[in-house]
Amino acid sequence: MSEPRRHFASDNYAGICPEAWAAMQAANAGHVPSYGDDPWTDQAASLLRDVFETDCEVFFVFNGTAANSLALASCCQSYHSILCAETAHVETDECGAPEFFSNGTKVLLLPGQHGKIDPAAIGGMVRKRTDIHYPKPRAVSVTQATELGTVYTPSELKSVWAQTKSFGLRLHMDGARFANSVAALGVSPKEITWQSGVDVLCFGGTKNGMAVGDAVVFFNRDLAREFDYRCKQAGQLSSKMRFLAAPWVGMLKDGAWLKHAARANAMAALLEARLRALPHVKVLFPRQANSVFVELPPAHIEALHARGWRFYTFIGQGGCRFMCSWDTAESDVQALADDVAGLAAQVA
Ligand SMILES: *Cc1c(COP(=O)(O)O)cnc(C)c1O
Repeated sequence: MSEPRRHFASDNYAGICPEAWAAMQAANAGHVPSYGDDPWTDQAASLLRDVFETDCEVFFVFNGTAANSLALASCCQSYHSILCAETAHVETDECGAPEFFSNGTKVLLLPGQHGKIDPAAIGGMVRKRTDIHYPKPRAVSVTQATELGTVYTPSELKSVWAQTKSFGLRLHMDGARFANSVAALGVSPKEITWQSGVDVLCFGGTKNGMAVGDAVVFFNRDLAREFDYRCKQAGQLSSKMRFLAAPWVGMLKDGAWLKHAARANAMAALLEARLRALPHVKVLFPRQANSVFVELPPAHIEALHARGWRFYTFIGQGGCRFMCSWDTAESDVQALADDVAGLAAQVA
């Protein structure tokens, strides 16, 4: 079978990066204790503490939906509510898992621009109802990088934090593309997490080049109490935990996680530059991470699909999303941009 082509549908279309693959292979030697009592899990947690420069509590789960919903459940009781952006993955793409795993906590949607929440809207939502008949706000969830390919700056996060703090709310960060945001901002990971008031981060590994797995990183250690039981009950305690943990070791020990994220961001920047030059293409949001959102005529979308390009048209408020991955090559970007340009020329 010939190697399939690379696509722009999602960063989870890509395979496993060499660093994660090598670590999986190394972890495959011999027998080690199960359920996380192994040296790989220890080392991965310790590398995460180094990356964040703090003594955080770390858990490894199978995917982002589990990470988000279990982390949010640990912030809330069933009669609470979670405030997030209208475009948040926890609202739009988790099949109600945050509500399910928290036994009914309500998700309330905040307005905002470009996938970010407007900090001022937090107070509005908290004050909207303060009576016993309405679920009590307890957590705010932000996505970094956002579902629309934008990135919260440290000062934007601090504005969110100021509001969450003033209302006694917890702050959760969906970091399915956290690596891309760190690479884009050029900040230290602590600056946009615990130094910006984040209580718990769901740090995505899958979209950054791992086979499977997200890390749940608790900066607020009180919230991590009995989280191991929560994971086990939800079917998220891997018995062969070393294979969830080892890729983190491979990715973190020499900085591959940031190298891959920076590459994906750079490819998206290149694609954005090429598409911006085309009169028939409208770039929809500021491109700050590894995706480019554009508006294309329906006939062009069809023509691109007919040429075999895979990309999504249903994320956020519509438009075409072109997502770059750790292994997106410059030639992939040029080939896609050439095809889009060719179609634009036909219309002109
Ligand atoms: C991909 C993604 C997730 C995790 O999705 P899973 O398919 O459950 O791994 C979470 N949040 C965002 C913003 C994502 O893009």
